[in-house]
Amino acid sequence: MASILSFFIFFVLTCFSSANAESNSTFTPINRDLYHSSIDLLEQIKALVHRHPDKLTLETIKTGNKGYQAEITVATYCRSRRGSDDRSKFRILLSFGQHGRELITSELALRILSILSEEQFLPNTNPTSLKSALDKLIIKVVPLENLNGRKFVEGGDLCERRNGRGVDLNRNWSVDWGKKEKDYDPYEENPGSAPFSEPETQIMRKLALSFDPHIWVNVHSGMEALFMPYDHRNTTPDGSPTERMKSLLNELNQVHCHNRCMIGSGGGSVGYLAHGTATDYMYDIVKVPLAFTFEIYGDPTASSKDCFKMFNPVDLTTFNRVLNDWSAAFFKIFKLGPLQLDEIGSKGSTSNLDKWVSIDEYLDGYLMERRNRYGKKMEVLDLGMQEIRTYFRLFLLSSVLLLFMFCSRIAKSKSSRP
Ligand SMILES: [Zn+2]
Repeated sequence: MASILSFFIFFVLTCFSSANAESNSTFTPINRDLYHSSIDLLEQIKALVHRHPDKLTLETIKTGNKGYQAEITVATYCRSRRGSDDRSKFRILLSFGQHGRELITSELALRILSILSEEQFLPNTNPTSLKSALDKLIIKVVPLENLNGRKFVEGGDLCERRNGRGVDLNRNWSVDWGKKEKDYDPYEENPGSAPFSEPETQIMRKLALSFDPHIWVNVHSGMEALFMPYDHRNTTPDGSPTERMKSLLNELNQVHCHNRCMIGSGGGSVGYLAHGTATDYMYDIVKVPLAFTFEIYGDPTASSKDCFKMFNPVDLTTFNRVLNDWSAAFFKIFKLGPLQLDEIGSKGSTSNLDKWVSIDEYLDGYLMERRNRYGKKMEVLDLGMQEIRTYFRLFLLSSVLLLFMFCSRIAKSKSSRP
C-alpha cells in the first residue's frame, strides 16, 4: 500500500515538475533590456520631436464608443515645416504595432524617426543624396496603432494581437469585411461588430483619407514577407500599379531581406485569405497606388504558445540586425518613391473629391478630439478657419464682379455721351 502511495506521490511530483519545466521553456518573457515599454517608447518619440521642431511634429488623436477609448499618436516628418500641407509633396503613411504582440515593429518606428531626425545614421549612405530625397517627402509615422492591446501584452498576455476589447484591427476594415474562413479563430481574427466598429480603425481611416498617401506600409511581424494586395483574394490586382509594386518589392528583397522574404499578394502567398484588412482598403478605397504589408521578423522554430519569441527577436544581435536591415529598406523606399511621382502624380485632387462624400464622416471628424503637441484642440479651430477662408474668397469674388459691372456701366455711359 505504502509503495503504491509513494509511487502515486512520485508520479504527481514528476508530472508537476515536468509541466513547470515545459511552461518555463515554452514562454519567453519580454526582454526589457532590448524593448521599451509602450509608455517609454511614446515618451522617447515625444522627446525626439521636441528636440527637432524643424523636422518633426506630433499629434495625438483620440476617439471612443460604448465606453471604450482609444488614442493614436502620429509623428509627421517634413523638412520644411511650412510645406507640411504642400500637396505637391510625395506622401508616405507608415503604421506599426497594429497587433499587440509584435513589439519589434514599434522599435523599428522609433529607429526610423531617429534616423529622420538625424540623431542616428544609416551605414553606407550618402547623407547629401538622402537629404535631397527627403526634401520631397512628407512621412507620417504611427508608431503604435494598438496601444490598448499592447498594454495587455505588457501585462503578461504575450499572445494577444487584438485591441483592448478583443477585435483584430486588421480585420475591421470594410473591403470584404466579416467573411470567415473554415479555420476562423475568434481569438486571432475577430472582425468586430461591423466595419469600422473600432475607434483605432476609425482614426486610421480618417488619417488615410485626409492625408491621401502615395505609399502605405502596414508593418507586422511573425514571418519575413513583403506583401501587396490583395489579402482577401489569392491574386494581385491587374495593371501597371502591380508591376510597380512588384519591382519595388523585388529590389527590397534582394538588397535588404537577403532574398529570404516571401513576395506576392497577401492572400496568395501566406496560405490563407484575410478579410477586412487595412492594406486592401488602402488600395481599393483610398486608392493608394503603392500599398504594402511588411512582415519584418519571425521565428518559425518557436512553439506556437511562445509568442514573444515567435514574433520578436530575443537577443541583441538579431534585434540590431532586424532594425538595421529594415530601416535601410524603408529609406530605400523613401528614395525610390519620389522617382515614381511623375507617373502617379495625377493622384490626389481628383480622387480626393469622391472621398469627401459622407456627411457623417465629416461630423465624425468634427467630433473627434485632435490635439497638437502643445495640447491645443485644433480640429474645431481648423474647420472654423476653413469656413472663414471660403466666405472670404466668395466675398472677394463678388466684389470683383460688382466692380467690373460698375466699371463697364461707367464706360458705357461715357461712350454714349455725345
Ligand atoms: Zn500582425
